[in-house]
Amino acid sequence: RAKEAGRNRFKVFTERMLETAVDQLTLENDMRRGLGNKEFRVVYQPIMDLSGSDVIGFEALARWDHPDRGQIPPAEFIPMAEESGLITQLGEWVLEKSLATLAEWRRETGRADNIFMSVNLSSKQFARADLDKIVVKTLNKHDLPPSCLKLEITESSIMDNPESSILTLNRLRKVGVRFSIDDFGTGYSSLSQLQQLPVDTLKVDRSFISRMKSDPENMEIVKAVIALARSLDLNVIAEGVELPDQLCSLLALDCHCVQGFYFHEPMPADSARELLEHRTGRTADHTRERMRHA
Ligand code: C2E
Ligand code: MG
Ligand code: MG
Ligand code: MG
Repeated sequence: RAKEAGRNRFKVFTERMLETAVDQLTLENDMRRGLGNKEFRVVYQPIMDLSGSDVIGFEALARWDHPDRGQIPPAEFIPMAEESGLITQLGEWVLEKSLATLAEWRRETGRADNIFMSVNLSSKQFARADLDKIVVKTLNKHDLPPSCLKLEITESSIMDNPESSILTLNRLRKVGVRFSIDDFGTGYSSLSQLQQLPVDTLKVDRSFISRMKSDPENMEIVKAVIALARSLDLNVIAEGVELPDQLCSLLALDCHCVQGFYFHEPMPADSARELLEHRTGRTADHTRERMRHA
């Protein structure tokens, strides 16, 4: 009996595994088709500097509109893309698309000269020897200065392979491309490692910002990251700011670069362009107004 129950459990277990494997494979095939089929698009989330009260850049984020399943979130397709290797193709496409868009804004609005585009890089892309060539080629194609590109990498993707990562970072840094460490605080980079990295921005992970109020320890972490950044002469961007409370705390800690739904959700290129065309300090009034009522 026990044996039979065991066998049945095993059967259910293997069936589930098979199902999961088939699902993964289906998704992978769908993605391969989708990449050729224009099912992907890029949305842009504004990054604000409140000391200058302005948009300073945008983060490019991939979206997939699956013809049968509707929108599939990046949390689902990015890990699969990394496992299958499709991330290289997707990543290059996002880089090309977002830089083409930035070049267009620069040409046509005259209001994007000091705007940067922040593009996420997966560890798989980062590990490729030809990364710097692809990046430079794409910048040149669109006649863009390297300083308008920021590449976002996570702590863990650097620490997967610290020596070669530092070489790649340095090669691109020499060209003039800048780097942000994404989701900062969730990885395990040591201070001495951090000091060796030619990065210019830390992005404090959303999880710390969202728990700042409810959990004093999180507030301390955010404070420490800001102090750390300052002592290493790095910029700090707070990710995932949703509430006026959070914004007030951040401003009190002297963190002025913010990104989050409180300001803007990721938006299509046209809306981002409109935002740029209406720059001139409107954000400042808007924010002051909202904080007064908070
Ligand atoms: P990330 O790079 O940390 O991007 C920030 C994520 O936080 C985005 O989610 C954004 O929509 C979300 N976010 C921004 N502000 C708020 C807020 O106030 N509240 C909340 N709840 N969320 C906020 P998204 O677009 O779903 O992307 C998730 C992750 O997928 C990204 O995290 C990034 O790691 C990855 N990803 C997205 N696009 C790409 C890509 O083109 N290449 C690579 N390698 N990874 C990508
Ligand atoms: Mg990012
Ligand atoms: Mg992030
Ligand atoms: Mg994050």
